[in-house]
Amino acid sequence: MSVAPRTDGVLVDRYDRVARDLRVSLTDKCNLRCTYCMPAEGLPWLAGPELLTDEEIVRLVRVAVERLGVTEVRFTGGEPLIRPGLLGIVTAVAALDPRPRISLTTNGIGLDRLAPALRTAGLDRVNVSLDTLDPARFTQLTRRPRLDAVLAGLAGAAAAGLDPVKINSVLMRGVNEDEAPALLRFALDHGYQLRIIEQMPLDAQHGWDRSTMVTAEEILASLRTQFDLGPDPTERGAAPAETWLVDGGPARVGVIASVTRPFCGDCDRTRLTADGQIRACLFATEESDLRAALRGGATDDEVAQRWRTAMWGKRAGHGIDDPTFLQPTRPMSAIGG
Ligand code: SAM
Ligand code: SF4
Repeated sequence: MSVAPRTDGVLVDRYDRVARDLRVSLTDKCNLRCTYCMPAEGLPWLAGPELLTDEEIVRLVRVAVERLGVTEVRFTGGEPLIRPGLLGIVTAVAALDPRPRISLTTNGIGLDRLAPALRTAGLDRVNVSLDTLDPARFTQLTRRPRLDAVLAGLAGAAAAGLDPVKINSVLMRGVNEDEAPALLRFALDHGYQLRIIEQMPLDAQHGWDRSTMVTAEEILASLRTQFDLGPDPTERGAAPAETWLVDGGPARVGVIASVTRPFCGDCDRTRLTADGQIRACLFATEESDLRAALRGGATDDEVAQRWRTAMWGKRAGHGIDDPTFLQPTRPMSAIGG
């Protein structure tokens, strides 16, 4: 264990984890209302001046890449495709030296139209969230009748050459818990990679209940009713998904068991919210204000040092199973999933 924050180089914490993967939330707003994420009426959105400008985002990503050793940049939200400056931001980040790998987590609405330009701008890969293939269930789950738009987005991403195209699914008891095999069949048929995520206590309505959550064990048992899942010889590293070879491979399926099999010990993520706060963890209760630093005239060196100090305080684990666990006050959509 290290004893004090470094004053140069990478983002290391007191448990010697190094953060190389930056998640940037581009907006807290969204055009869906997934029940595990947002209430039907939406949330009190951040006001315009509270949001980082495109230039501020690019400057912070540059500091992360040039001074702090970040090698992966993922844009998320809210829904990142509704940020007007997205293409310009991706273009500027792709021009950084060393060039980071650039990815996007999106609900897929509008991706059919935007994917070619995003690819040209420098986007490497994409994760599209899709929890069900049934139109009525989709509307129940997201409170919007947009399944066709998401399916078109997936197809458009693959056609534009984004590779891999991954699907993120969350299963909810009594809604879509039986759909893991159908989602995997769909992914295999289209060349997409499926990852199923355990639901986490990050919804604004605080409706999460450990006792009704669909667990990784149940997800795997459900998949095994129709597929043979074998051990995956590739090294997992800091990836949140544990992966299995499907029917002998080469296709794989991943399960992200954030709750029942936490992977905090290997976490390499640092998060920037749309209003310029650094969070060391999705479940952090503290934030470090880089927007104030930027707008107060801080130099790149000063910003980098604030970021190092923020990551130094990262806790060992999220503590969801701890009786004293407190859900973060910001919901997932405002942190950046
Ligand atoms: N709007 C984009 C999307 O849906 O992909 C990006 C933001 S969303 C917050 C990022 C990811 O978080 C999605 O895959 C979504 O399914 C997941 N997510 C949201 N709330 C969650 C929760 N309570 N537990 C687990 N995953 C959640
Ligand atoms: Fe929007 Fe993504 Fe949250 Fe669904 S999970 S409401 S698409 S931010």
